[in-house]
Amino acid sequence: MAKTITLIPGDGIGPRIVDATLRILDAAGAELEYDRQIAGMAAVQEVANPLPPETIDSAERTGLILKGPLTTPVGVGFRSINVALRKEFDLYAAVRPVVTLMPGGRYEDIDLVLIRENTEGLYVGVEHYIGMQGDPKAAAESVMIVTRFGARRIVRYAFDYAVANGRRKVTFAHKANILKYTQGLFLDVGHEVAKEYEGQVEFEDMIIDATAMHLVMNPYRFDVLVMENMFGDILSDLMAGLVGGLGMAPSGNIGERLAMFEPVHGSAPDIAGLNIANPTAQILSACMLLDHIGQADAAGRIRTAIRSCLRECDTLTRDLGGTASTDEFARSVVGRMR
Ligand code: NAD
Repeated sequence: MAKTITLIPGDGIGPRIVDATLRILDAAGAELEYDRQIAGMAAVQEVANPLPPETIDSAERTGLILKGPLTTPVGVGFRSINVALRKEFDLYAAVRPVVTLMPGGRYEDIDLVLIRENTEGLYVGVEHYIGMQGDPKAAAESVMIVTRFGARRIVRYAFDYAVANGRRKVTFAHKANILKYTQGLFLDVGHEVAKEYEGQVEFEDMIIDATAMHLVMNPYRFDVLVMENMFGDILSDLMAGLVGGLGMAPSGNIGERLAMFEPVHGSAPDIAGLNIANPTAQILSACMLLDHIGQADAAGRIRTAIRSCLRECDTLTRDLGGTASTDEFARSVVGRMR
């Protein structure tokens, strides 16, 4: 029986890469029905609310969201709706696999997973200006919140993920040398949880700046990485760069009662409307959704077709050095599933 999911096409390049994804899902025989909803700038324009209650209701009903990227105004205006959705549904674990699909890049055979804490840290939105000597914005303060509960459940998620997926090692990246309370608490919890998995999964902790350097110098020394919210946000983009860039990086945001799948990248306003965006990250996010709901066969068919497309190099989008449009790439993937 077809599973109904909430579909949010998103802003910028979102609608086109989501449309390409739907054609591919259809060709792969995915048993899905879509409840289309709006959020972000599209929703501001249509109903003057970046996160309409109908969208929240739909997600509550279906328990599953496939989402394109949403635009967040920089510095001013409404807060990120991506962050709001993760908080609204307590999607505490961002799962971001980074896998080489196309040979001939900087590295071959990369197979890493970043697990990012998605609800705490500096992204809780506790910040304000401090006025001094007539300047209302003389200073600004942001609060980083780390709870033992939040740290424990994300580190445990990373270990459980490692066990379930036959992974050998978890690296916990932190900044406890400087942020002795917030990151120190996180690190203590990391070691505490690691003890429960001794003998099953290797554990190491590493300072975040050194982690960034080692990821570029020798990514093969890592396997599963777990870290707090902002570090995870930044290193996700760095890790996408190891396998061809943001167009190749999917993600799942997992909570106890709801899961949301979206590309790591944003709405790419610089190339919106040009039909040149790489839809791979969006398509692979849909594959993660299919795995999540037990339709791994359809996901497998899509991944095989994408690999074949990328290896044959005849319909690459511009970010990968080709000239194909988003639609041409999607047609090529569909053609390989026939
Ligand atoms: P971005 O990820 O949109 O783009 C960064 C660069 O990568 C741009 O040059 C863009 O053209 C390129 N790029 C991104 N996706 C691509 C694709 N699929 N194919 C080819 N090239 C691609 O980051 P940004 O420009 O910093 O942010 C734009 C907007 O997206 C902002 O409003 C930001 O808040 C939002 N954003 C949303 C999400 C999300 O929805 N989860 C994530 C990150 C950023």
